[in-house]
Amino acid sequence: MNWQQRWPAAMMSNYGAPQVMLTRGKGSRVWDIDGNEYVDLIAGIAVNALGHGDPRITDAITDQLNTLGHVSNLYASEPGLKLAEKLVELTGNTSTRVFFCNSGAEANEAAFKMTRLTGRTKVVVAEGSFHGRTMGSLALTAQAGKADPFRPLPGEVTVVPFGDAQALEQAVDSSTAAVFLEPIQGEGGVIVPPPGFLQAARRITSALGALLVLDEVQSGIGRTGKWFAYQWDDVTPDVITLAKGLAGGIPIGAVIGIGDAASLFQPGMHGSTFGGNPISARAALAVIGAIEDDDLLNRAVTAGEKLAASVMQAAGDAVTEVRGKGLLRAAALNGVASADMERALRANGVLANPVSPTAIRMAPALTIADADIADAAEAWSKSLQTVMNGTST
Ligand SMILES: *Cc1c(COP(=O)(O)O)cnc(C)c1O
Repeated sequence: MNWQQRWPAAMMSNYGAPQVMLTRGKGSRVWDIDGNEYVDLIAGIAVNALGHGDPRITDAITDQLNTLGHVSNLYASEPGLKLAEKLVELTGNTSTRVFFCNSGAEANEAAFKMTRLTGRTKVVVAEGSFHGRTMGSLALTAQAGKADPFRPLPGEVTVVPFGDAQALEQAVDSSTAAVFLEPIQGEGGVIVPPPGFLQAARRITSALGALLVLDEVQSGIGRTGKWFAYQWDDVTPDVITLAKGLAGGIPIGAVIGIGDAASLFQPGMHGSTFGGNPISARAALAVIGAIEDDDLLNRAVTAGEKLAASVMQAAGDAVTEVRGKGLLRAAALNGVASADMERALRANGVLANPVSPTAIRMAPALTIADADIADAAEAWSKSLQTVMNGTST
């Protein structure tokens, strides 16, 4: 039996059957089981910040496994402590404190629990938001298809249009515990809010004593060209959640509290057996070190602009804009279905993600080379010819 036949006999069907089995990767290139090569424009969904097989990560985690692999949180270990110190430094605020878990959903779950410790239970989220799939983080996820089968979900959650400061102002009152926002909505289609929206959210929450929780699971750790996407807007949130790119492909999540929010959790209130384990922490330190050493914040900006311009040029009228910031991007399609486009790109050697019916998400490694971008643009051009001619594979 080939893998496509074995898959449904062993796997639950929550993902639908994958079309490709990948076997190997190097930098921004991956190969499938049939030997086909692809430019990887999705990088494990904005996870593989240094691409595939970066020796800085493999050396760090190999060394750590050979030294001390896991200790639980009954004991301290140096890598987790060092990573927390580094994240405190990146927020530029000495009041910052960190909790480690293993995924984005867990980070938002923990942040949601923290909001209950304010003595308030109401939360406000944005339409189209995505905060994860646990019952708590799903309650914050305003996407009917994902959340509705699982109601009732915890919390008193109000949904407002993303980017609408006036609606937010109306929804938040003195009984609101927190507002959860992605600085740029990722799963919602790579949606950048209007200028001033995060600042308005900060002003509104501060005025009423509600926490501002910014979900930087997808946008954080250099993806948009800043350590945190909110740093483009000159605001300071109370809570930041991280995961995806933080350890470049090794599972990790983090909740960062700033100011009063840093001390909401008291002993015994929350925990995670794997959270902050030495291997994930070493991988994250390697990622952050590489971003610093190779100036990948600036590279994310220039590579993102190059990718956007190259795809626009290659696509002509079929792409109306390439929105986003840095290397978190989506090409808005005109007259082409994203599923067809994804299939055609794949046939022409590019992996990208149909994030919505009308948009293709691109979130490659921060290390992506100009040559990879050029090859991807050429594939866009070829793929559009295939799709337009209706000869899609
Ligand atoms: C992916 C994502 C999550 C969920 O992360 P998991 O690691 O899949 O649980 C939460 N928030 C945002 C913004 C995400 O992009």
